[in-house]
Amino acid sequence: MNEAEGTAVEVTPAEAAPSAARERHAELAELIEDANWRYYVLDSPSVSDAEYDRWMGEIRALEEEHPDLRTPDSPTQKVGAPISTEFTAVTHLQRMESLDNAFDDEDLVGWEARAQRLIEADPGPYLCELKIDGLAVALVYEKGRLVRAATRGDGRTGEDITPNVRTLRDVPDRLTGDDTPDLLEVRGEVFLPVEGFERLNEQLMDAGKAPFANPRNSAAGSLRQKDPRVTAQRPLRMIVHGVGKWEGARRPETQSEMYELLGSYGFPVSDRYRVVPTLDDVRAFVAHYAEHRHDPEYEIDGVVVKANRIAVQRQLGSTSRAPRWAIAFKYPPQEVTTELLDIQVGVGRTGRVTPYAVMKPVVVSGSTVERATLHNASEVERKGVLIGDTVVLRKAGDVIPEIVGPVAYLRDGTERAFTMPTHCPECRTELAYEREGDADLRCPNARACPAQLRERIFFAAGRNAFDIEGLGYVAATALTQPLPPQEPPVRTEADLFDLTMDRLLPIRSVVRDPDTGLPRTDPKTGGPKVVSLFANLSGEPSKNAQMMLEELEKAKTQPLWRVLVALSIRHIGPPTARALAEEFRSLDAIASASEEELAAVEGIGPRVAATIREWFEVDWHREIVDRWRAAGVRMADEAPAGLEVRTLEGLTFVVTGTLTDFSRDEASEAITGRGGKVTSAVSKKTGFVVVGDNPGSKYDKAVKLGIPILNEEGFHVLLEKGPDAARPLAATPGE
Ligand code: NAD
Repeated sequence: MNEAEGTAVEVTPAEAAPSAARERHAELAELIEDANWRYYVLDSPSVSDAEYDRWMGEIRALEEEHPDLRTPDSPTQKVGAPISTEFTAVTHLQRMESLDNAFDDEDLVGWEARAQRLIEADPGPYLCELKIDGLAVALVYEKGRLVRAATRGDGRTGEDITPNVRTLRDVPDRLTGDDTPDLLEVRGEVFLPVEGFERLNEQLMDAGKAPFANPRNSAAGSLRQKDPRVTAQRPLRMIVHGVGKWEGARRPETQSEMYELLGSYGFPVSDRYRVVPTLDDVRAFVAHYAEHRHDPEYEIDGVVVKANRIAVQRQLGSTSRAPRWAIAFKYPPQEVTTELLDIQVGVGRTGRVTPYAVMKPVVVSGSTVERATLHNASEVERKGVLIGDTVVLRKAGDVIPEIVGPVAYLRDGTERAFTMPTHCPECRTELAYEREGDADLRCPNARACPAQLRERIFFAAGRNAFDIEGLGYVAATALTQPLPPQEPPVRTEADLFDLTMDRLLPIRSVVRDPDTGLPRTDPKTGGPKVVSLFANLSGEPSKNAQMMLEELEKAKTQPLWRVLVALSIRHIGPPTARALAEEFRSLDAIASASEEELAAVEGIGPRVAATIREWFEVDWHREIVDRWRAAGVRMADEAPAGLEVRTLEGLTFVVTGTLTDFSRDEASEAITGRGGKVTSAVSKKTGFVVVGDNPGSKYDKAVKLGIPILNEEGFHVLLEKGPDAARPLAATPGE
């Protein structure tokens, strides 16, 4: 079906649109064109996807009501945006299309009903797959060799990015197999896995450059580089999801058969697609990934549903911009807009002074967000946000709210710039940069600044350190903050294990509003509302107080790595702490190790080694260690109690997916405790891959490399009886 027919299906004769509708249409078209240019050409969006989709919804509704507005140059009739002049233009062998969207069940039902009407038959079965948030690329193979790669551009003309695409490991240079097409145009999505995206942004920020707003933009920015060497350094991946021209060789009859064939030619095909008979099964797939949206290693923004039979696809054809045989079910937006009410500063565990945004509460990715870190003053400047702005907010990964930038055209002149304070908001010490060129201002009063101490205590009690239940943020605050005439019982972390019920009972705490963090007012006194934190109304110890003391007692026997983390030595997170503990086995050995010895430990470089040395040279730091020791905190791991305990010595493990009986940490601990090593990436050197539910790409890699794969049952056997007993239980692909 050609384009003109495609458009004709929807047009009905109508009166000319009234001028208000015409004006709004023109306004929306301009907003959308501008957004398209920023998004597709500059890789730097200025509005959230949700806002953009709302504009598209509105302009579509206007055209529905007044079809004469639906001119061929309307954004609803076009794909993407014109290409950048930085690249050579290439004409696609076959038009590259966009996808129509479904936002709810009604849209999905409507899509199936339309298809059914058009072909007067059931369009199923359907192929459901993930909508990867990357950018579309077309690869052309002539006689089995890659000759060209291009971006989608406006669908007809794309940008020639062949040298860049050649740097992608996923993209075969030559097709494998005997019966390959003479001419083949394969389409797919190029993306940066979330982990790679986060790492890249860290590197960019370290180098003083602007980070990317989301994985899609980072993939597009990485691929659309003038210098392919830059592309080569980015961990870009690709998954194929369609074909254009196909000449010679047998053509597949279904989309799934196409994927099998493409896989056999050497293309990366997703293993997460399913062919299902009915729309109900489609719903189940959509619901499953709505729950497991962050399981894949890449960001997805929805599910793509396609008629699986190619004959049906041909019958249904396309509109001017999208196939009728496919629909993208979009998940609720992860980017929203809200109002930036204020920018305040907080002081962290290491004295870093961080500006953070206080926003009008808004729901993003399923939770209400009203604060987001802005990292440092130059980041506030770089993002260009002003207090009073409407801002785009998103969740990085699945958890951390992040401001993407302002919606500048909504400004009315009342916005004001943020200025970084010169003194610590909590202890009034003058703020300073530690070294020239540092991005972060710090409060130098590390020992006594109440903010730093509160954060350190909270951290020391956290899940990655001593894991003390009952010592959360409210308790950490009450234990460390002066509340005259009350003196805080914890004045450095040295005091932590000397807490007794007698000391806890008199402690009072300011009641804060859980939403705003501001103190509540006591109607009787007019001052802040204060309550006893560890005593109940009759003055008896509360359950929480008893639990906290019991937990403190238990914490004394935590393994050495947890003690190390609890000390808040900069750069020492759980992985480094584990490596140190494994190597030195006691805190004394670490304290007396030379910089060279420390730097010899895997994962520790000279900079971290120097930080550790410096930490132990500070008097009050040593006092913490001495007082914890005196209180009975275990400062050394048991010596390996005979060979039978170190049953996994010399073996490297990768754990992926969700296990029932172990958290990730527990599984790692069980392995390292027996002398094994845990790494995050599967390689030929990996001994076993332990696989739980919903494993990711590590599982695929293990299959590819033929690494023995243990399920949870096998993992139990491994821990209890050793590798020889577990090996027969392992699935060894390729054998
Ligand atoms: P789209 O991203 O909604 O869908 C089409 C694209 O999906 C295809 O071109 C293909 O690249 C991709 N895709 C991913 N997985 C796929 C799969 N399994 N099968 C087939 N295709 C798959 O459409 P679009 O035209 O690329 O972009 C429109 C969307 O982009 C908007 O809805 C909006 O969310 C966003 N956008 C945002 C801005 C902004 O300023 N924020 C501007 C323009 C576009």
